[in-house]
Amino acid sequence: MSAEILPTHTAALFEHAVKRAAALLRAGELVALPTETVYGLAANALDPVAVAKIFTVKGRPARNPLIVHIASLDQARACAAAWPPLAETLARAFWPGPLTLVLPRSPLIPDLVTASGNTVGLRWPSHPFIQAVLRECGFPLAAPSANLSNRVSPTNASHVFEQLGDALALIVDGGQSQVGIESTVVDISAGPARVLRPGMIHAASLAAVLGETLAGPPVPSPSSSGTLRSPGLLQKHYSPRARLMLLTWADEADLNRQVGALCLNRARCHVLAHTQVPAPEGFGRVCLIPHDAEAFARALYAELHCCDAHGAETILVELPPATPEWAGVIDRLRRAAA
Ligand code: AMP
Ligand code: MG
Repeated sequence: MSAEILPTHTAALFEHAVKRAAALLRAGELVALPTETVYGLAANALDPVAVAKIFTVKGRPARNPLIVHIASLDQARACAAAWPPLAETLARAFWPGPLTLVLPRSPLIPDLVTASGNTVGLRWPSHPFIQAVLRECGFPLAAPSANLSNRVSPTNASHVFEQLGDALALIVDGGQSQVGIESTVVDISAGPARVLRPGMIHAASLAAVLGETLAGPPVPSPSSSGTLRSPGLLQKHYSPRARLMLLTWADEADLNRQVGALCLNRARCHVLAHTQVPAPEGFGRVCLIPHDAEAFARALYAELHCCDAHGAETILVELPPATPEWAGVIDRLRRAAA
């Protein structure tokens, strides 16, 4: 099988792709489709046989739960066993958008989706294509990123095709993902709200809406196997094939000194910089990403895919500042470097 890629850049093409995607999803098949965070590998979240295909195709560990995508507050409430005032506040402030709320799960949601836990992660995405498919289907969609497990998430249709083109019938092309990294995950299932995974809706925005500071992610357990204290906190994740290193350098001479001290093969080093940009001579590639957290997040995965495609051995990334708006980007960079 080689996936068909359907474009969506006119109203007629968009409508055709919605119909085709919904037909496959109703038949229990998987479809790769655009969301504003990254491309998702979608299945009917209420059909355990369809959901099982996601784990098989991705090679995803069963202990890593899936986010359930919905397209209305009513649909969200139907997937949860409780809808506390905090859920209403956060949903009204940030949905549709890159925020996942972890809530007590409804019995409607199969075990496979929640990694057998008693909570479910819910998100109302803002991308018009997945919204249209959700409306057409009428059921929620489980959709992790459309990549092989542990690899870099796709932010355009070609990224999906490279990794999963042979395993899928349909990839829908909805352009470049505008957020570019995975959603912020906030656990409001019990006790005070806690950020499980930082993202582009950052702690300061959440605090502004909630009127209080949120707890951060629990410290991941050192073991990479066995049961996770909290699901979905795999430390090694989102990795390019090349080794990624996070560095700071005062200027070009300082960077060159560090490359020498680390005994790196300069010709196979790719540099991703946002403030101190070295001259490209001798490096495999030097890439300037704007010093702006949103622009950086949007570009990051495409740059990592590009490094891998060009045979990078090492990716040197200039460490961004430790301010709230960069927290999601720094989280993904640290996991990619782990
Ligand atoms: P992704 O692989 O990007 O689709 O994101 C799935 C991630 O969402 C998981 O790895 C978890 O971090 C988080 N998640 C989803 N459902 C839950 C849940 N029930 N409890 C805690 N985290 C969850
Ligand atoms: Mg993923």
